[in-house]
Amino acid sequence: MPVRQSEFKSVKTKCPKCKSNNLDIIELWKNATISWDCRNGVIEINNGNLEPGNPHKVEGRCYDCGKHWTIRGVRQIDEIVVDI
Ligand SMILES: [Zn+2]
Repeated sequence: MPVRQSEFKSVKTKCPKCKSNNLDIIELWKNATISWDCRNGVIEINNGNLEPGNPHKVEGRCYDCGKHWTIRGVRQIDEIVVDI
């Protein structure tokens, strides 16, 4: 069985209300959503998650205050993560 590679990335967004970086990051596709757990501003991305496709929107949900918002100007998670 192949080993599934995963890597950790830093997320460049915070809760607009309480500035927390413990977030659920949700990518919305036409018929699906994919979400990532962001803890202290870091997410783990499995290479298997990053398939070519057409996500159209990214939302965040704050684990600390419950705020749920749309991350403006972003269509896929790639646009808000950087290598650590
Ligand atoms: Zn918050």
